Amino acid sequence: MDINAQKILQDTFGYSEFRGHQEDVINTAIAGNDALVLMPTGGGKSLCYQIPMLVRPGVGVVISPLIALMEDQVNALTQLGINARYLNSMLTSEEARQTEREVLDGSLKVLYIAPERLLQPRTISLLQQATISLFAIDEAHCVSQWGHDFRADYLHLNVLQEQFPHVPRLALTATADTQTRQEILMRLGLQNSHVFVSGFDRPNIQYRITHRENGNQQLLRFLQNEHPNDAGIVYCLSRKKVEATAEWLQAKGFNAVPYHAGLPMETRKRHQSKFLREDGVIVVATIAFGMGIDKPDVRFVAHLDLPKSVESYYQETGRAGRDGEPSTAWMVYGLQDVIKLKNMRADSQADEQFKRIEHQRLESMLGLCEIISCRREALLHYFDDDEAKEHCGNCDNCINPAERWDATDATRKALSCIYRTGQRFGVSHLVDVLRGQDNAKVKQHGHQSVSTFGIGNDLSADQWKSVYRQLIARGHIQVDSEAFGAFKLTDKCRAILRGEETISLRKDRVELRSKKSSRTSSHVSDQDRDLWEALREKRTSLAKEQGVPPYIIFGDVSLMEMMERRPATSKQLLMITGVGQSKLEKYGEAFLSVLAEFNGSANVTSSFDSEPSADKVESYLESLALLKAGMDVPMIAKQRGVKEKTIYVHLEKCIQEGELEIQDVVQLPEEDIDRIRDALFANSDEENHIKLTPVFEDLGGAFTYEVLSCVRAELLREM
Ligand SMILES: [Zn+2]
Repeated sequence: MDINAQKILQDTFGYSEFRGHQEDVINTAIAGNDALVLMPTGGGKSLCYQIPMLVRPGVGVVISPLIALMEDQVNALTQLGINARYLNSMLTSEEARQTEREVLDGSLKVLYIAPERLLQPRTISLLQQATISLFAIDEAHCVSQWGHDFRADYLHLNVLQEQFPHVPRLALTATADTQTRQEILMRLGLQNSHVFVSGFDRPNIQYRITHRENGNQQLLRFLQNEHPNDAGIVYCLSRKKVEATAEWLQAKGFNAVPYHAGLPMETRKRHQSKFLREDGVIVVATIAFGMGIDKPDVRFVAHLDLPKSVESYYQETGRAGRDGEPSTAWMVYGLQDVIKLKNMRADSQADEQFKRIEHQRLESMLGLCEIISCRREALLHYFDDDEAKEHCGNCDNCINPAERWDATDATRKALSCIYRTGQRFGVSHLVDVLRGQDNAKVKQHGHQSVSTFGIGNDLSADQWKSVYRQLIARGHIQVDSEAFGAFKLTDKCRAILRGEETISLRKDRVELRSKKSSRTSSHVSDQDRDLWEALREKRTSLAKEQGVPPYIIFGDVSLMEMMERRPATSKQLLMITGVGQSKLEKYGEAFLSVLAEFNGSANVTSSFDSEPSADKVESYLESLALLKAGMDVPMIAKQRGVKEKTIYVHLEKCIQEGELEIQDVVQLPEEDIDRIRDALFANSDEENHIKLTPVFEDLGGAFTYEVLSCVRAELLREM
């Protein structure tokens, strides 16, 4: 490893070690080679180019389509003591000239620029006079003409290769299937470059998809139960629905704002900045919102409508939990979504090939909604990420497995009802006929005398709708947009109607209610709450003074660690994730004095007193996330490179906090746990202190100290 890179990572950025492919990518770029980097959101993409830009001589140029975010990105680097600027249309000409001077005199290290600006002859000539350390092409998937983020300017970026043949180039993206990857390599002239593909897994995101009953009420329950004070995004398909939902959430007491392309520029700017700069704001938005939104502490992304493709779903849900903390991707969807999306597509003016690709994408999305196996596995499989395990333990299908039922008979009835009524009707009428509803429309068409009339009384109307929805998703039924959404049979139906094939469908069910998926804001323990609030207040006031978002001062991860580890000196504060030299100088004193106020209080110990070897910053929540992702203790220990004992300490803390049950950690029969509990109880004193050695002896050494202390943690929680 390049010594400088390691030192910059620690001293400037405040991290103790590289993650995933970061180190390899950085070495490649420092050595002057090109690379394509696919890294999931929150995987630390920007470090991959920022560190080489600091190590190599000259100024590094970051090409990004996201002008609105450049200011925050530059602010974040400035906080770290790095000379960074941006060039775009938002600057005055004097500011732009100043930036250009710093490019030329070599004092600037990082320059953010939009592709259209870069391609201007004036800019190219400016850069030709300067020393360039590296070109980083961010959001590189914008080069793909089939993608929804296509930017024509990106097609001209091969100019870099022609004009600056000796400057290394990094193309980076968080989303790209195999086809898009090939397109990026080809269009940017990177055929001979290294390709780094990190797993697409976002283990801290919990995926949940459920059928819609009453979307708004379901959303409200979800927010009230799990994210009452958290920042999040709610996606809707139409502008009208965005506004209605935002108003409704406001009326329910949430700090919610609408965002869509039809709002005045001023309003959009104001709402985006509110989301970035205040805590606990919910943005209700169309897909116009969010690309590149760099807010690390978004705790949930909720979809009230079905996204158009798995790519969109992955990208949109990926805006949650960039800081690696537990977050939720929650979605409701129903039959109407499917019909609406299919109609939108049929109406569009796009050419046939485009429509066909869109069609396949929608089918995959529907498939993801209806599967009964692990959602994460399916999602990762879609991106050709073969790291996927069969059972992630952190999606609704894993936590609360869906049931199947033999729907062969029901399917036959549903399909033949379409056939008997002439393939001219939509779902409500078909269900009415099946259930023998003798209403006006049925009479008008004489459908009370077709053979399928009243043969479906064994199922409720909702159950029939569920059958139809799944049959559309599976491609047995086609929705004809030119005939007002009439259902038509496809060739796939033949085998079922002839009795040659059976079919089992997913049982719709009441939604999973996860206990505690997020630990921030609403889940800080009571005794820590005051300190947590004090740290956040300090952060907010510093952020306000400087006109930057709070997370640019310190992320939630850093504050959580301060709360848990209680650093008391500058040296200890430096060990906290995200605290580097520059931030220590700027804010060290301010946060240490907040911590000092609380260090006097009862039953608080600094983890630095008891763990002299704590040179590596660890958080028990990472262990928790890994456990929830299906790993056992030895695996977690190996993955994190620490002793199993340490992992038990983490999990013990999780049990104490109510994040875990004892059975999640210790695989023992009920009787054994009871035996341990009895022994612990017998050895507790009046103040509920329990020493483990006598317990260990009472049980004849049958259980390890790690197991005993985990059971103790649960017992104490209940006491
Ligand atoms: Zn799963």
